[in-house]
Amino acid sequence: MSLNIHYQEDFQDRHIAPNANDTAAMLQAIGVSSIDELIEQTVPQKIRLKSPLNLPKAKSEIEYLTDLRQTASLNKVYKSYIGQGYYDTLTPGVILRNVMENPGWYTQYTPYQAEIAQGRLQALLNFQTMVIDLTGMEIANASLLDEGTAAAEAMFMQYSLRKNQQATKYFVSDQVFAQTIDILKTRAQPYGIELVIGNHIDFTATAEFFGAIVQYPAGNGEVFDYTHFADTLHQQNIKLTVIADLLSLTLLTPPGEWGADVVVGTTQRFGVPMGFGGPHAAYFATKDEYKRSIPGRIIGVTIDSNNNYALRMALQTREQHIRRDKATSNICTAQALLAIMAGFYAVYHGPKGLKLIAERVHGLTVCLAESLNQIGYQVLNKAYFDTIQINLGELTGSIHKECLDNNINLNYKGNQVSISLDETVSFEDVKLLVRIFSKVKGIAADSLTIVEEVKTTISATLQRQSSYLLHPVFNSHHSEHEMLRYIKSLETKDLSLCHSMIALGSCTMKLNATSEMIPVTWPEFGKVHPFAPADQVLGYYTVFDELDKWLSEITGFAAMSLQPNAGAQGEYAGLMVIRAYHQDRGDHHRNIALIPASAHGTNPASAAMAGMKIVVVKSLENGNIDVDDLKAKAEQHAADLSCLMVTYPSTHGVFEESIIDICNIIHQNGGQVYMDGANMNAQVGLTSPANIGADVCHLNLHKTFCIPHGGGGPGMGPIGVAAHLVKYLPGHSVVDINNEKSIPAVSSAPWGSASILIISHAYIAMMGGEGLTDATKYAILNANYMKARLEAHYPVLYSGSQGRCAHEMILDCRGFKNFGIEVVDIAKRLMDYGFHAPTVSFPVAGTLMVEPTESEPKHELDRFCDALIAIRKEISSVENGSLDKVDNPLKNAPHTSAVVTANEWSHGYSRQTAAFPLPYVADYKFWPSVGRVNDSHGDRSLICACPPLESYLEEEVTA
Ligand SMILES: *Cc1c(COP(=O)(O)O)cnc(C)c1O
Repeated sequence: MSLNIHYQEDFQDRHIAPNANDTAAMLQAIGVSSIDELIEQTVPQKIRLKSPLNLPKAKSEIEYLTDLRQTASLNKVYKSYIGQGYYDTLTPGVILRNVMENPGWYTQYTPYQAEIAQGRLQALLNFQTMVIDLTGMEIANASLLDEGTAAAEAMFMQYSLRKNQQATKYFVSDQVFAQTIDILKTRAQPYGIELVIGNHIDFTATAEFFGAIVQYPAGNGEVFDYTHFADTLHQQNIKLTVIADLLSLTLLTPPGEWGADVVVGTTQRFGVPMGFGGPHAAYFATKDEYKRSIPGRIIGVTIDSNNNYALRMALQTREQHIRRDKATSNICTAQALLAIMAGFYAVYHGPKGLKLIAERVHGLTVCLAESLNQIGYQVLNKAYFDTIQINLGELTGSIHKECLDNNINLNYKGNQVSISLDETVSFEDVKLLVRIFSKVKGIAADSLTIVEEVKTTISATLQRQSSYLLHPVFNSHHSEHEMLRYIKSLETKDLSLCHSMIALGSCTMKLNATSEMIPVTWPEFGKVHPFAPADQVLGYYTVFDELDKWLSEITGFAAMSLQPNAGAQGEYAGLMVIRAYHQDRGDHHRNIALIPASAHGTNPASAAMAGMKIVVVKSLENGNIDVDDLKAKAEQHAADLSCLMVTYPSTHGVFEESIIDICNIIHQNGGQVYMDGANMNAQVGLTSPANIGADVCHLNLHKTFCIPHGGGGPGMGPIGVAAHLVKYLPGHSVVDINNEKSIPAVSSAPWGSASILIISHAYIAMMGGEGLTDATKYAILNANYMKARLEAHYPVLYSGSQGRCAHEMILDCRGFKNFGIEVVDIAKRLMDYGFHAPTVSFPVAGTLMVEPTESEPKHELDRFCDALIAIRKEISSVENGSLDKVDNPLKNAPHTSAVVTANEWSHGYSRQTAAFPLPYVADYKFWPSVGRVNDSHGDRSLICACPPLESYLEEEVTA
């Protein structure tokens, strides 16, 4: 026997699940002789790529991680005092390992299926409660993308709600962080909102203003008393947004007690690594009266079918705020996982722990300030929490050099420096800083005294009196065992990719490989401040450069912007780039966006945010775009046409043959083509956005490129553009990434959620061009195999000219309504079989959209098909009367263990049918933790914070 000493495991074989036998069986079921034949029948020849992807040879997992170690070592982890919205933090080990690094949490989907998502819904409710308590507001959402966009959302909400339509000015304190002001500028432009930037003390409120925004503590560290400012605004009916640091609010009077209408900010410093900019959860809190205008998702309390406490996403059929062209926001994917972490950080530390952390940070800051004052430096702040500003004059250079020699970063601005402390700073660190500052002044170390007895600099009126985080959840889990068990108890309520496939059409829930995830929490990537000097972050630059090049190759575009933090934000960024292009050519009037009726809701919402008018293009019977209607509308609006937004393959899961003609028509009429890249999983290596004729597209890295969904975020939505648009790609006001004509930033950090870009980098590096192309082919194979198995049982809506679907398919469930079965009944019944439902009612109401991805083996596809086929039989039993129309396993789904094991059982079918409807379920049983959730009950009286359990139950009894 000869031995192969060069054998190396291919990552591709781990990522793509079907083996040779499975593949052969699936091809046979479909009725084709090879995968290539299937692809021939699926992807129109005229859009196929002419040559294979030009990407580096695939690396094995171990090779990749070894090489990335080298790259990581190019990042220098300095002690960061830069602040400006990003602070080093101590992620409690119990949260790091059991949440952030745990697929049980990070592979969950957005909690649309509430009955199998009670764990994260509770964790997010904790987050909302924490935000409400600390800010002193009445209601909060379950996270936004980052502090800057949260501020922009607040501005826009106040703009939308303004009573006086003449009021178009917005006051922005010049002490708001620079990156936030930048995002406000981007967002203000399309609506003609005039930003007035200045000092809040000099501001004169007039009726021309609809709102104002200030930072608390301010950008320069000062803790201002804004009470009088808020009063002046309110006299003119001007609304106030406050950007507040949550940790400081444990000590400071919260904005809700002195007149804020909205409070926003980041929760990063609650245990979430800086990660060179993200991902982190922003928060948004406001008054109850604005509850129907809040952007993002809100978790609310309701009851289930057994009258028990249950949670679900409130106020939405799909998304309450993404109302197509009437949208108030386009936020879809947010930052669920990071919000969950921040909430757990508060649960773990509790109100006392948080306050002690804040006191230490504040105390050490006072210590530093007074010690520096003593040796002749002039600290400019009077009242501050964790940040001081000093004018260094001619000593700037020496201090800067001395700090670099000690691996320390401060925040330099001309001759001024600001120093922000965080929970990782110790008394020793402060001593080192004082020593550096004294050395520069020529003061000997042994004659140095460090002030140790310190008192707060915050005036009595701004010291917080009110209590917070009184709910038992924040006062019960402070030992590690209790915390561990609490985290686990929530995790076990939630179905994730650890349990079974999640076949979400359009959302591509594929493998999130462990090797892709491992580097994210390496300190060389986690502990880096986004505004750290360029020469300290060469490792990150290497990853970005390669990822930019590879994604450009995959999309066929000239360059990418890695800034947008989610798909919808990519749409917005791409449309703003198109807008800038038209304006640059003098075409200021071009503002019509053509959007097919079947588009994802975020498309029109993003177009509206970019100041465009939406014209809807019809679809044909077969689901394709009505090209005649498109042509007519493009010609009719030729003078004002801005762009077309098109999803490809279509949201119906079909490669439309007419796509090249469609793009030509738009270009002939002066428009640009924006491709929504959510369905890129059917394109990679076979065709590309540039190849079909698009000018811009976003990629959902959390779909096609393996970033996990995190239960509703994080995500990344970078955009690729053709050569003529590169110069307009988003810039940044703090870090110079600007092109010739960059639009202002769309995210707080220059490369968005930089640390998770590594996941997509790893995926591409370990798959190589061939592996990625195979992944696409297997995604199409798996989908067509399911179609072959299911189409005898469910009508499959829409397919290509040769009867094939792309990477997903739509199962029509509308016919079952005739005998009282709704599509949600099927979705809920799937839980009894151990599965998460596919996408419900998008893009067609009353249907299920199934997308298996290449990462599922045949065995798993079969289990899922078996479940759907068994459910179809149950529907037939309802139809033919052998199961009752009302009391049947579909209508009563999902069945909890409490219901199934109760002493009473009054249903017309067995307990076995209820909970173990197929033999395989016994091995995989996943119990939904609540019965069917009652949405309307919760929406009628909205509760968005943790209610004391007893009072809640009492209310139910009396109601
Ligand atoms: C997921 C999706 C989006 C939105 O992306 P987010 O990352 O959630 O903002 C847009 N369009 C389509 C077709 C999608 O599937």
